[in-house]
Amino acid sequence: PYEVLIVGGGPAGASAAIYSARKGLRTGIIADKFGGQVAETVGIENFISVKSTEGPKLVANLEAHVKDYDVNIMDNQKALHLKSGDLFELELESGAIVKSHSVIIATGARWREMNVPGEQVYRGKGVAYCPHCDGPLFKGKRVAVIGGGNSGIEAAIDLANIVEHVTVLEFDNRLRADEVLQRKAASMNNIEIITQAMTTEVVGDGSRVTGLNYTDRATNSQHHIELSGIFVQIGLVPNAEWLQGTIEQTNRGEIVVNSRGETSMAGVFAAGDVTNSAYKQIIIAMGSGATASLSAFDHLIRSDSS
Ligand code: FAD
Repeated sequence: PYEVLIVGGGPAGASAAIYSARKGLRTGIIADKFGGQVAETVGIENFISVKSTEGPKLVANLEAHVKDYDVNIMDNQKALHLKSGDLFELELESGAIVKSHSVIIATGARWREMNVPGEQVYRGKGVAYCPHCDGPLFKGKRVAVIGGGNSGIEAAIDLANIVEHVTVLEFDNRLRADEVLQRKAASMNNIEIITQAMTTEVVGDGSRVTGLNYTDRATNSQHHIELSGIFVQIGLVPNAEWLQGTIEQTNRGEIVVNSRGETSMAGVFAAGDVTNSAYKQIIIAMGSGATASLSAFDHLIRSDSS
């Protein structure tokens, strides 16, 4: 059996693996797709000490760093169930069972998508999901934010400081963001808010986004807005459905961890975007991966099983 089995091969999982291996622990990584969200990212400019890089490059560096250590990477393997006992047993989609004395869950999250024509075509070419990451790419341009919840209105306020103009499109007939955020957004003269707006299509010129179409649900009329960027802020879905009923989660499905990365199940730790961490970023995921590993080490040296 492994001493530390990590589920997820994004920045959190890679960091957890390196920290575990450096403690001399038998370490394995199960990843559906090594690299995680970073593999899909174009420009990364906020990974401190690396001024600018690209997702696939950072993934290659992560993999090379992990492979510098004695870590068994099991790529293209999806975890389906976790069972506790003398040893934890992780059941994979392939039918295989992998055993370990401790487990670190680092299965990340995925952005909720609009599922409208054009969204996939222009993903990374004007359709964006992370204002902290991609906001500066739209400096001086016109953008839309889809979603009027806290993350949507926060994104609008953040972007309004950088871009020329922000249009917020909310499906409902009112915003769901906190009052204080709504007041702040209303005080900024380059934010326009449109409620009862159902985005129907992302429009582009073949290489980049040029606008979007929406239906005004009150009048059922069709509208077009010209812009360069669309920030989709309709939620982040943690990849933790497979642990429902096993490990405590928030009402949004995030795994609840304490400051040591411990979950509700002794010997199981979690890190990165799959947890209830306040912010979801590469550098934060890596830090929490290190935390989870050091806590797993602490746990293992206090138990007599390994
Ligand atoms: P992830 O990167 O999501 O990795 C999860 C891993 O778990 C993957 O290997 C996945 O295949 C695996 N997995 C999931 N479910 C299972 C399962 N059941 N069994 C086995 N494996 C499983 N952050 C920044 O700091 N800067 C940026 O510029 C930036 N830009 C971004 C741009 C885009 C388009 C996106 C989507 C995100 C961006 N982010 C950025 C956010 C950043 O990518 C995430 O915060 C970070 O990747 C989270 O790391 P993680 O390891 O927790 O999860």
